[in-house]
Amino acid sequence: MTRIGRIWRATFVVAMALTTVSVWPGSAYARQETICLTGTLTYTRPDAEAGTALPMVTSPARNANWALYGTAHPGFFDRPLAADLTDRDGKFTACADGVAGSDLYLSFIAESSALWQVLPQRGDTEQPYAFTVPAKTVTGTRDLGTVAVPDEMAGAWKVLDTLNLLWWKRPAAAGDCWTPQTRCTGISVIWPSPGGRNGNSYFTTAGFIYLTEDDANTRHVTLHEAGHNLQWLWQHEQWPDVSNCNPHYINLASSPSCAFTEGFADAVAMYALDDYRFVWSSGFSANLENDAATRNWDIGDSVEGRVATSLVDLWHGPDQGWDGTLAIFGKTVPDNFHDYFYNDRPTENLSTTGQAATIIHNHTADQSSPNGAAGPQPIDESARNKPLGPPDNDPGVKVEPRHQWKSAHRHWTLRPPHPRPAP
Ligand SMILES: [Zn+2]
Repeated sequence: MTRIGRIWRATFVVAMALTTVSVWPGSAYARQETICLTGTLTYTRPDAEAGTALPMVTSPARNANWALYGTAHPGFFDRPLAADLTDRDGKFTACADGVAGSDLYLSFIAESSALWQVLPQRGDTEQPYAFTVPAKTVTGTRDLGTVAVPDEMAGAWKVLDTLNLLWWKRPAAAGDCWTPQTRCTGISVIWPSPGGRNGNSYFTTAGFIYLTEDDANTRHVTLHEAGHNLQWLWQHEQWPDVSNCNPHYINLASSPSCAFTEGFADAVAMYALDDYRFVWSSGFSANLENDAATRNWDIGDSVEGRVATSLVDLWHGPDQGWDGTLAIFGKTVPDNFHDYFYNDRPTENLSTTGQAATIIHNHTADQSSPNGAAGPQPIDESARNKPLGPPDNDPGVKVEPRHQWKSAHRHWTLRPPHPRPAP
């Protein structure tokens, strides 16, 4: 045997010995025991949907990522011992083998699989909100009971939880992503929005939703902005030319392009929440049901509320869901409601006559408003109807270049979110 051969052989024997020593009798059984941490993740935030009293409501954080780490066995490159999502009731069961008696900690991250996340700021790396819960000398199963998201972060988990409502509405064709496209892009929300942009929430084609501190309290606003994000994803990250949209109001004429994109976003919120409302962060809400006789509403397809209710009625009625409308976005970028209805719907075998025609006629969306021509229009404010809701309205989608992450945050949970609970 050569000298090198002997050294190699000696090293091998030492390694074998260490392996044997590490599994001595007595501790082997305890170390192999499966230990588990269980509990329910909840968040407490004002509930704008419940009215202007804004009651503080505690809700389960559903489909929220968690990861289990051990302080004595931190894992390889910080890889967790286990990682998964809370279930449809906010419950978690975090188990690991071979770490009985260790100090462990559970990390809760404001993300759902790698499909949506809430970040405190826009940076070069995805850094979702996170907090940890320690557990000393764990053996067997330890029930942590209710784990409350810290107050200052609760809005992030409310937004995260609200996006389940949109996820559960996506067409089957989208599979385990937001769209059927190969690139499985997630939805990223920045909360609270650092100001600017009229101090309002908005979506930017950089690929972010900016939500104000208070807008986390209204699921309608969260879903409105997510509706913009969803349309952009289905349109292969393209956005139409939109004019005269800052500000825009649900019941007033803006422009055909603004009314279509904003009306779609209003419709997404109503469709996901199964109502006909818009709810502002103050808890003030408006019923958007309308017809030609509705007072204080402008007429025509330049009015986003007219477009929104037309879309929701089409989805609940002749279209039997919104899959066809999203499929249109997968093929083309409609200029406005007229383009969508008359030019694009036939390509997906969606009706433009009969019940469909009646719906849009009842909402006056089959005719253009006095300000209906495309492009910026001079609006005589003294002759206008009064805006619905507070004066601080959404300034529309901001068009800017796509953000490029320089380094990606590692999403340890990659299984798809749990499906919608049975009604
Ligand atoms: Zn909007």
